[in-house]
Amino acid sequence: MSPTAASDNPLLADWTGEFGLPRFAAVKPEQFRPAFDAVLAAHRAEIDAIAADQAAPSFDNTIVALERSGRAFERVSNLFFVLAGADTNDAIEAVEREVSPLLARHSSATYLNRALFARIADLYQRRNALALNPEQARLLERYHTRFVRAGAALEKAAQERLAAINERLASLGTQFGQNVLADEKSHALLLDEADLAGLPDFARAAARAAAEERGQPGKYAVTLARSSCESFLQFSARRDLREKLFQAWIKRGENGGATDNRAVIAEMVALRAERAKLLGFASFADYRLDDQMAKTPAAARKLLDEVWTRARAKAAAERDALQDMIAAEGGNFALAPHDWRYYAEKRRKAAFDLDEAEIKPYFQLDRMIEAAFDTARRLFGLTFAPAEVPLYHPDARAWRVNDASGREVGLFIGDYFARSSKHSGAWMTSLRDQEKLAGDVTPVILNICNFAKPAAGEPALLSFDDARTLFHEFGHALHGLLSNVTYPLLSGTAVPSDFVELPSQLYEHWLEVPDILKKYARHCRTGEPMPQALIDRLLATRTFNQGFATVEYTSCALVDLDIHGLAEPAGLDVSEFERRDLERLAMPAEIVMRHRLPHFQHLFSGGGYAAAYYSYMWSEVLDADAFAAFEETGDAFDAETANRLREFIYGAGNLRDPAEAYKGFRGRLPAVDALLKKRGLANSAAL
Ligand SMILES: [Zn+2]
Repeated sequence: MSPTAASDNPLLADWTGEFGLPRFAAVKPEQFRPAFDAVLAAHRAEIDAIAADQAAPSFDNTIVALERSGRAFERVSNLFFVLAGADTNDAIEAVEREVSPLLARHSSATYLNRALFARIADLYQRRNALALNPEQARLLERYHTRFVRAGAALEKAAQERLAAINERLASLGTQFGQNVLADEKSHALLLDEADLAGLPDFARAAARAAAEERGQPGKYAVTLARSSCESFLQFSARRDLREKLFQAWIKRGENGGATDNRAVIAEMVALRAERAKLLGFASFADYRLDDQMAKTPAAARKLLDEVWTRARAKAAAERDALQDMIAAEGGNFALAPHDWRYYAEKRRKAAFDLDEAEIKPYFQLDRMIEAAFDTARRLFGLTFAPAEVPLYHPDARAWRVNDASGREVGLFIGDYFARSSKHSGAWMTSLRDQEKLAGDVTPVILNICNFAKPAAGEPALLSFDDARTLFHEFGHALHGLLSNVTYPLLSGTAVPSDFVELPSQLYEHWLEVPDILKKYARHCRTGEPMPQALIDRLLATRTFNQGFATVEYTSCALVDLDIHGLAEPAGLDVSEFERRDLERLAMPAEIVMRHRLPHFQHLFSGGGYAAAYYSYMWSEVLDADAFAAFEETGDAFDAETANRLREFIYGAGNLRDPAEAYKGFRGRLPAVDALLKKRGLANSAAL
């Protein structure tokens, strides 16, 4: 294919669509490489000009100039990574492999630019004499910290090694994610009608639709996407098929051949440790946590340990109950990991007279979207109206977001259904971030999920967990939408990863507020609200199976801290490390890590959560305590509490140190008690 000339490359034209959207229909994969080359060169020239400025460094000619630079690069890069995550193909994957080392090189060239760092360091030294307002002071401190942490103050030889490490890590991270996607694409369980014993209607319909998407009409496909896989494990009476599916699921990235991720991980872990050492830290975990709210691996570990012992005890009680159930049915086998979800579902049905198939018709995707919107209206006065704007895929939908006074807040895009062109998981991302430096720029925020797509004409139904995921990601979306800062670097979710899960996990609480459930959990056929007795039973199961869930999660967080805590990880055998570490932790044999290392995308696909998977638990301490602030007023929508929440958390980006921000909202730092209570780990009561 011939490179597109700059003049007719729509990526390089002005994006004049509403909300600065590109003309998606005109965008072709082959335009990205030339576009990246052009915008990287332009950004490079801007950076070089700032560094070479003859005038003495000032906040304006250095920090503000940096904040104004790289706008075209930002645009192209945001768009590219939205597509690479949510609607990729071979051509986009090829571009991704090509540009990820280029982007790393570009970032190194900026952060290791000595002349530029000299200006920032000079300003930082004189910071108290610069008459900066608090946001400007925070911005300068963030720039200085970022440059130092990237190696700006190191000798030239060390810097060159760092640049090479960063470039290699970028390529490996891309390869890791593509390998997982390849294994997920190639491992669907293709079934006939006769293989579906135990599956409720919604799971059959979803499997039929998934087979159709894969060109096998009339068949049923169970894919390795979490919602497809988990509902099969929960309902299928076929132990042989559950085992087959579960094995494929937990072996993603560990199948030998071209998509095996173990060598990729070993190299990434070694490179990260080397980088940390060059920067003066004992391990990658020490380096990573130094700029987090937790500050040290020991602090993160203390929290995890507190939870781990209690969680294992609870999981052991749960295991015994499931084993009793197998015996009562006349089964003569020990509970295996591929049995847990199936028997837990049965036990839930027996103990609470509640089964997922009874609940699911009440959780329609569209009603749950409305519920998330209505919660935002009651808390923050936001309104959402469908927007007719061009998008990148027919399944993606957009809403115009306004505040109570009618002011435009931004655009929200929801892309909810699983498809084979989408990476697994659920995430929030953006095409444009809020800021006030280039005028009053409103954000364009996306939620990408992987809910099972229904067959044509059927309503899209969610599990209660899916609905919680929807609220979680929408909480992140609000963190982006409500952002109210001047400078782009501090915008929205640009906070430490152990703080960034507070807005998302906190939002999950409102799904369980009776007002919201009563109004929006309506039966998909009859439109009837969920009966109060069913709501009561559903909420009574909140702490059910939490031993399992907590073990599944906490083991991941501990293994993450352990592998990234290695000082000398050269020559690591990844499978063996994982096995021995779990043995050391006394991992229950009937539970497998929620994400095993060979497909642990949080850690290795990019690395946003490397040595930071504990963040979810850390943030949960905050969210449990934060929701209690509403409960204490007796009103889940208390206006004053909501105002403080908006001022210090959802609207505040990275304006303050996270601990200060939390104290601003709550008046104090949180304790772990609310979290233990929420997970049913506060006492030894089983169930
Ligand atoms: Zn999250």
